[in-house]
Amino acid sequence: MIKINENYLKLQSGYLFPEISRRVKKFSEKKSDARIIRLGIGDVTEPLPPAIVEAMHNAVSQMGSRDGFKGYGPDQGYDFLIEAIIANDYKSRGVSLENSEVFVSDGAKCDTGNFQEVFGIDNVIAVTDPVYPVYVDTNVMAGRTRKADKAGRFTGIIYMPCTPDNNFVPELPKEKVDLIYLCFPNTPTGAVAKKEQLKKWVDYAKDNKAIILFDAAYEAFISDNIIPHSIYEIAGAKEVAVEFRSFSKTAGFTGLRCAFTVVPKELKAWTKDGQAVDVNPIWHRRHCTKFNGASYISQAAAAAVYTEQGKKQVRKIIELYMSNAALIVSTLKKLGFEVYGGVNAPYVWLKTKNKMTSWEFFDLLLEKVNVVCTPGSGFGVAGEGFVRLSAFGNPANVAEAMERFKKL
Ligand SMILES: *Cc1c(COP(=O)(O)O)cnc(C)c1O
Repeated sequence: MIKINENYLKLQSGYLFPEISRRVKKFSEKKSDARIIRLGIGDVTEPLPPAIVEAMHNAVSQMGSRDGFKGYGPDQGYDFLIEAIIANDYKSRGVSLENSEVFVSDGAKCDTGNFQEVFGIDNVIAVTDPVYPVYVDTNVMAGRTRKADKAGRFTGIIYMPCTPDNNFVPELPKEKVDLIYLCFPNTPTGAVAKKEQLKKWVDYAKDNKAIILFDAAYEAFISDNIIPHSIYEIAGAKEVAVEFRSFSKTAGFTGLRCAFTVVPKELKAWTKDGQAVDVNPIWHRRHCTKFNGASYISQAAAAAVYTEQGKKQVRKIIELYMSNAALIVSTLKKLGFEVYGGVNAPYVWLKTKNKMTSWEFFDLLLEKVNVVCTPGSGFGVAGEGFVRLSAFGNPANVAEAMERFKKL
């Protein structure tokens, strides 16, 4: 008899986005003339800029020629891309890395989800609340938790609430934890962490022989000069942190797929009897065993993000999204809402009025002004009473959505 991995039965059903679709569908059947504006999506909307498209055309032509054809690429990605990543994303911020510390992949979702595999099953995991569900679900699948309670929280995971009181940057846990997931700039709250705040986490990890998995997927949206773009801008972080980056939100690659993970040579984990083990070669082993590389075409496209033209064109698109965010923030503040994020991240985290729950406010927005948001409670218990608005989208639609909010 073939046995199922029963850990999968502990997973909460993917409830949030199907439930949003169900309510939107039901509403549009009732009111078919309503023009619904979706500010709920976490996907980019602008097309790829010309420098990237041109690099892809060239790569396709190469693949079709005898001299230019490429089969399997190097294990960790092409040097032309890794070198561009190191020079532009790290060296420019005072962080030096070797090529062998960068692993190119086809997505940060897979990387943040897979990385826990190289750690023992009995580690204590800490996540923020609200949280990107991938961090939690992959640990559930791996068997690090028991069943979820009524609120949807798993026994075996430490949840660290992120609220206005701590500016959405979690306090150090009272319990001793081994693996810590941090995401800054954050989805869904749009919060960022300052150097001093990240330093506390780096020091905690050093003191407790813990590791931080730092998701910097929204790094390109940081506008404030004092905010670190990489956790390695904190002294000593290379000993305790893995960093995940992606071209998905930075350069519109959600449908093209290219990302990378940094695993420094200094990073160590321990055997049960206390012997230090280098994590970099272990991740290399994992990566090469289960993955055969991002396509040459997407790696060529990713390298074009770092060319002079590519940088300018990508920056313009980010500015378009961030002007949407600025309009959302300023309009909602004028209307007397409590608003967070939207300055260094493409998400605005909005407190509902009159103590409405996230779903009550979702229904109100949908029915009164035909705008779709994402209920904050879908990201965790501490997200209750908030909704997320996304700045990805057409500026005219965002402007119209804001006009409608005025009539709420
Ligand atoms: C979108 C996103 C990613 C990127 O995922 P890809 O697989 O690279 O598209 C990673 N982390 C967070 C928190 C995200 O929102």
